[in-house]
Amino acid sequence: PLIQMKDIVKTFVTPAGRFMALKSINVNFYEGEFVSVVGKSGSGKSTLVNMLTGIDRPTSGEVQINDTYIHQMNESNMARWRGRNLGIVFQFYQLLPMLSLLENVMLPMDFCEMYAPEEREERAMKLLDMVGLADYAHQMPASVSGGQQQSAAIARAIANDPPIIVADEPTGNLDTQAADNVFHIFDELTRQGKTIIMVTHDNNLAERANRKLLLADGEVVNETIASTLPLLTHQQMLKATKHLETQFYAPGEHIIHEGQFNDRFYMIARGLINVTLNQSDGREMQIAQMGPGQYFGEVSLLQSGRATANVQVAYESPVEVVALKHNTFRELMDEAQAMREAINRVVHERLAHNTLIRQGGQAN
Ligand code: ADP
Ligand code: MG
Repeated sequence: PLIQMKDIVKTFVTPAGRFMALKSINVNFYEGEFVSVVGKSGSGKSTLVNMLTGIDRPTSGEVQINDTYIHQMNESNMARWRGRNLGIVFQFYQLLPMLSLLENVMLPMDFCEMYAPEEREERAMKLLDMVGLADYAHQMPASVSGGQQQSAAIARAIANDPPIIVADEPTGNLDTQAADNVFHIFDELTRQGKTIIMVTHDNNLAERANRKLLLADGEVVNETIASTLPLLTHQQMLKATKHLETQFYAPGEHIIHEGQFNDRFYMIARGLINVTLNQSDGREMQIAQMGPGQYFGEVSLLQSGRATANVQVAYESPVEVVALKHNTFRELMDEAQAMREAINRVVHERLAHNTLIRQGGQAN
């Protein structure tokens, strides 16, 4: 990983007492990834990204970026390191109002001295051109739109060609079209090899990133649970996260055997599984294939306990699943009406499908 956050705890001391904004966060970010960070207001998104930028420090735990331990650096080393390694984009742009857009973009280059003085203006123009502001270079921030100010702020963030860009609600103050434009700039930057971590409230934008990191109450929700069971509340997702087991299976391996007891609810994190039915001639007939974001095991958990089909890993590649034990699954079903209804519908459909296929099989 390019960035490793290990056991990050952040406690704030307030007049009302101690408040734990991050509760032992473990996350990795990989080179070239575009990760969106989502979660309700107050869930710890800003606190988390502030640990990456060094704007704030963890109470305990480690932040490692490449070979550098961010949490150990003093202020002046931090400022130097940040200048070359990180581009930071804020919700309210924070351009200097008395400098033109061009001068704003040149400022970090003057500070960092990575580019020779005579190169800086040309580079700043190139960056402004890249974000669609070539014609506005000499305008003052107040004379252009919010979206244009944010585009200029992104150009400024990448002035010293940092490998990582961290943006906290960069589109929070923009209309849909300007937000879309900002997203496109980030998307283009990931194509150029940058790693981008973007906090956002906008679920549409969040979905379009490579990966979504969902925070709830200062903890990370398991991605597979969040994408497979979107009808759960964030609290319920977090509860499921704390009870899950991650399991790996080899190509061709059986996860569930028809007729045997099953006591797990499985969600596919990676790879493909085949659902098959035993036939009277001893062979298995494939009735479905499933991949990431889909689940199995619920039919037996909600019916007799015995599996009504085989679930076998496809031969192409191994499978990673996250599994919930019977009792955790039952509790979630009791608590979460919308999920319960959705899963019950799926159970009915799957059972009806199996019956249809078995009848067809007999007719042959
Ligand atoms: P988000 O960005 O997801 O809205 P934050 O990371 O800003 O959430 O905040 C997480 C929690 O930590 C909130 O409950 C917030 O009130 C609290 N918090 C953040 N910064 C401070 C601070 N400097 N002092 C006390 N509490 C803070
Ligand atoms: Mg925030």
